[in-house]
Amino acid sequence: MPPLVDRYDRRIGSLRLSVTDRCDLRCFYCIPEDIEWLPRKALMSFEEIERVVRLAVAGGIRRLRLTGGEPLLRKDLPRLVEKLARVEGLDDLALTTNATQLERLAGPLARAGLERVNVSLDSLDPARFHELTRRDVHAQVMRGIDAAEAAGLQPISLNCVVIRGRNDDEAPDFAGLARERGFDVRFIEFMPLEHGARWGTDVLVPGYELRERIDAVFPLRPDPERDPHAPSRDWVFADGAPGSVGFIDSVTEPFCSACNRIRLTADGKIRTCLFSLREHDLLGTLRAGASDEELAALLHGAVATKELKHNITDGLFIKPERTMSRIGG
Ligand code: SAM
Repeated sequence: MPPLVDRYDRRIGSLRLSVTDRCDLRCFYCIPEDIEWLPRKALMSFEEIERVVRLAVAGGIRRLRLTGGEPLLRKDLPRLVEKLARVEGLDDLALTTNATQLERLAGPLARAGLERVNVSLDSLDPARFHELTRRDVHAQVMRGIDAAEAAGLQPISLNCVVIRGRNDDEAPDFAGLARERGFDVRFIEFMPLEHGARWGTDVLVPGYELRERIDAVFPLRPDPERDPHAPSRDWVFADGAPGSVGFIDSVTEPFCSACNRIRLTADGKIRTCLFSLREHDLLGTLRAGASDEELAALLHGAVATKELKHNITDGLFIKPERTMSRIGG
């Protein structure tokens, strides 16, 4: 298959694939308590996922990240990981998780061929974590992180979505944990993909502000090994302590021109941008009996429509209907 390249000459190399829309947390900005899940049969089967991944790899995808919903809630996930780890041509197989089930699954996932995990963690304080996620499982999450470390799923990245007045004061504490445990902590700007109307510039904390607050406690210097194409701007500790902090400033410092990602929702729709207003029904086409050539043509057609940039800050922005949990963050 010819490489997947969009109209702006961005070569697509990364796929984020959601394996379920279900989640066991109810982060107040992401999922309402009374959410309705997709019916089981709407989800891509493991065989369908494997077929699509093989095609995507033939088109130049090298990095695959499994996400959700909460991917660890997908039954038999290690079996899927085992299938995907065998796909030749994939350089990187990773997973984004809330870690509630990681204590049980870190070992089986590592043995199945998973290389790394990113753990989403918005607070280090158990009571505040409960408030933000509406579930009292902070200790369980911390045990999941320990289990991932013990299973060799390293380096461990912690992803923290920062919301002013809710957890922005914890940035130096997260940096302290990064130093203590050698973790890579990534602070993510809150994006208008939220449940309800909670987003606004009043609650958005620009990454530079967090960096200044951390730098005042633990002086930082730019990470000399930073990948210039990665969305995160990474910093290491000037005193040589292990770990790092990074800032994914999707709103205030967008990185759209370097974006090489596409996404596949749990119900098999391709999205070429987090903020896409249109989707491409790959699974529907596959289930209608499409050949690999027809599916490849659909992939190319979808990539051709990849948006130049999101319009969050220029007044033309229209919020997509799907929130993060339904897209696959
Ligand atoms: N359950 C998995 C997890 O917790 O990592 C994967 C899915 S979750 C939707 C992925 C990430 O998206 C989480 O870190 C979550 O905090 C983040 N997220 C959800 N809504 C967001 C928003 N409006 N802006 C920025 N990040 C958001």
